Amino acid sequence: MRRWGALAALGLGLVSAQPAPGGVLTIRFLDVGQGDAVLITSPEGKSVLYDGGRSEARLKALLTQYQVKSLDLVVASHADSDHITGLVPAVQTFRPKYFLNNGLAGTTQIWQKLVTTAKQAGTQGLIAKGQTINLGSVKLTVLPPPPGMKDQNTSSVGLLVQYGSFRALMTGDSETPETTAWLRQYPAAALGPIDVYKSIHHGARNGDNARWLATVRPANVVIGVGPNNYGHPTAEAITLYKKVGAAIYRTDLNGTVTVTVQHGGAYTLSAAKGTGTAATRTQAPSSVTPPTPASSVVYPNCAAVRAAGKAPLLRGQPGYSSKLDRDGDGRACE
Ligand SMILES: [Zn+2]
Repeated sequence: MRRWGALAALGLGLVSAQPAPGGVLTIRFLDVGQGDAVLITSPEGKSVLYDGGRSEARLKALLTQYQVKSLDLVVASHADSDHITGLVPAVQTFRPKYFLNNGLAGTTQIWQKLVTTAKQAGTQGLIAKGQTINLGSVKLTVLPPPPGMKDQNTSSVGLLVQYGSFRALMTGDSETPETTAWLRQYPAAALGPIDVYKSIHHGARNGDNARWLATVRPANVVIGVGPNNYGHPTAEAITLYKKVGAAIYRTDLNGTVTVTVQHGGAYTLSAAKGTGTAATRTQAPSSVTPPTPASSVVYPNCAAVRAAGKAPLLRGQPGYSSKLDRDGDGRACE
């Protein structure tokens, strides 16, 4: 337990933190295809990457797209390639202070490459032990693999993200033995309700289960998934999420899903493409508002357009119609 104290004090505290524009916590479930990668940025501009997906090039492009300037910590939920491959360029580029992992060495070349890269970058390995990490004003709690777990999936490192009343939870590719052990280990109030939850194991059949979800009670579930031969996400997992009343997002259908959390904990979700499936319960504070389709704005005449302060209306803008554009030059109510 000594280690995590040092981690909180040394690495990721408020010292030298730069306020992010708008001062919000941002969590991006990156569209990395089949795999997981979650980018967490505190209001102070401190960032953590939890998993990196299966492609170095794709993760690199996403870090550029979202203008990541620094990474303080990278986390491998476990050593499978669909989670750690993108961590290689992330470590190479940003030389984070820490690399948090489950302590179970992978047997693959990509694991070796990641370890070598971390050494070259001066990034210090940290084994998950139940640390609490202050990412600026955001609290991260590590859920370490419980004792007795035997393989990579059941040794997934969980991460609970808290900011005000907001809570997000991600647990890699954990399976029932691990979540059941966590249920015994933690009080129910520590594990749920969760506002935004990462689907376990891309919606596999051996991931989420009814008992675990009854405690986690997710309002929104994001599935990190792309074209695959495993049948992910499975109908069984989708049914479980629907049963607990969660809205469902999928990176294969929605692209990168971004959660924006205000000071205090109010949050919104937005998807690069489309919207999630509607939640069946109403208390979730998420608000996913689709853009108003142009056809839903109808002005009876130009007086109404002027009254709305929208004149002139250009072709393609909401409310434009050829009826209002008598000379047909693409500018209505000139
Ligand atoms: Zn996976």
